[in-house]
Amino acid sequence: MKIIGLLGGMSWESTAEYYRILNETVKDKLGGLHSAEILLYSVDFEPIEQLQRQGDWERAAAILAEGAQRLEQAGADLILLCTNTMHKVAEEIAAAISIPFLHIADVTARAVQQQGLSTVGLLGTRFTMEHSFYRERLEQQGLQVVLPDQPSRNEVHRIIYEELCLGSVNLDSRKQFTAVMQSLVDQGAQGIILGCTEIMLLVKPEDSPVPLFDTTAIHAQAAVELAMQI
Ligand code: GLU
Repeated sequence: MKIIGLLGGMSWESTAEYYRILNETVKDKLGGLHSAEILLYSVDFEPIEQLQRQGDWERAAAILAEGAQRLEQAGADLILLCTNTMHKVAEEIAAAISIPFLHIADVTARAVQQQGLSTVGLLGTRFTMEHSFYRERLEQQGLQVVLPDQPSRNEVHRIIYEELCLGSVNLDSRKQFTAVMQSLVDQGAQGIILGCTEIMLLVKPEDSPVPLFDTTAIHAQAAVELAMQI
């Protein structure tokens, strides 16, 4: 099996989940004491989050591209960027390395289509919901995407940065997410993409009337498949 490179720390709360899911997936597939071969480069999230807020995506791209190069130099055979939001600079990162970069929106779109669904709700940071990089990537693969209204987008964004990225899981916030998910279903969503790698810490399948697509699990599982192929 190849070595999976994780570009993580955004936040480390979800990177820890990647680590767990990668190992569980390998254990399920190979049995015994098998576990995933992983290299992790985990950034300090505070400066990255500041660059996001300032809209300095170029600087953020440079930092992450360098992280990806370090992983490649250390021997990684493929790269996972463990955040949906920073896929805004996926092209710059992929261009800086010569090993495969597994795009989180591509594997998520495939998982949605495998369930035979075409209209999905998208939850994530404001960047993921409102900028075009993520939505258009899903649309290019034939999906229709519905979003929460502006106040709900603001609240989802706030909960991600002020609670989930700090490891805080609140009952009130779960209730808010449940209401937002219902509003997506009312707009025609047949499934909902948890397009932020921390949301699964808060929301479980039983909180939603339609299937949930947990990008953390989908991305990690797809990485194991790829690591076994290449
Ligand atoms: N992990 C989150 C995501 O999947 C949000 C943190 C970030 O801005 O990278 O988008």
